[in-house]
Amino acid sequence: MQAVITTRHNKAEYLSSVLKKAGLTLQAYEGFDTDTLGSFCKTVERRDSPEACALIKAKIACEATGSAFGIGSEGSFGGGPYSSFFNWNQEVLCFYDTQTEQAIYAYAEGPVGLESIPFTNRKVLTEWVNRFPGQRWMLLKQENVTKGLTHNSLLKMAKSSIIKEGDMISPDLRAMYSPTRQILLAEVAKDLQYRLQSHCPECHARDFVVKKHESGLPCGLCRTATSKVRAHISHCTMCGYQQAERLDDVADPYYCSVCNP
Ligand SMILES: [Zn+2]
Ligand SMILES: [Zn+2]
Repeated sequence: MQAVITTRHNKAEYLSSVLKKAGLTLQAYEGFDTDTLGSFCKTVERRDSPEACALIKAKIACEATGSAFGIGSEGSFGGGPYSSFFNWNQEVLCFYDTQTEQAIYAYAEGPVGLESIPFTNRKVLTEWVNRFPGQRWMLLKQENVTKGLTHNSLLKMAKSSIIKEGDMISPDLRAMYSPTRQILLAEVAKDLQYRLQSHCPECHARDFVVKKHESGLPCGLCRTATSKVRAHISHCTMCGYQQAERLDDVADPYYCSVCNP
């Protein structure tokens, strides 16, 4: 099975070794400028959700190349559960099947230490960039953005005073320039691999995985239903079939509205 991925950022390279395990080989389609849907340096704001952007890219790959299967990828930074401590990276992949029109979304997320810093002096800058080997950077001077800068070129620019106090140094988060993202891309590929290999027992469609959780786990003392998860529910979006995996556990009375009102 072969799928085409819309990317100008070398993403196929970071996904293909994992997806090969699901029998999928990847080919890159570079004819579409994905930055028109939103870019990391915010020169183009993203208007749609990450899922919608990934689906658009997957469909473009199919339309442009005639491939039966397309993949789109979208990364987001910011937000997350610890937004005041870490930057948060979420990766979404969309696998689109033109025949069945099924869209499968895979996810991975995690904290990243990468942030933007204002330039103060060369010592601080050197220490900062040395924390992220292989990462490339962007220099933001008022309206001007210079992308894809290596450690060396950044430090040279600082030495020759091209970078001035107050200029912002931001991580270039395009996949080929960010080892941190490459790790998360391998993670999201694993999620897609799992979804591609999980088939519905009724209609054999892919992506038969746990998508919902049912609450109501009984209290260990009085059996009252609590807000804790009672069952994991696998659901097929193609035929509607679902399967519940009940947990035979009981909830700590701490979570019970009767025992601990
Ligand atoms: Zn099904
Ligand atoms: Zn109780």
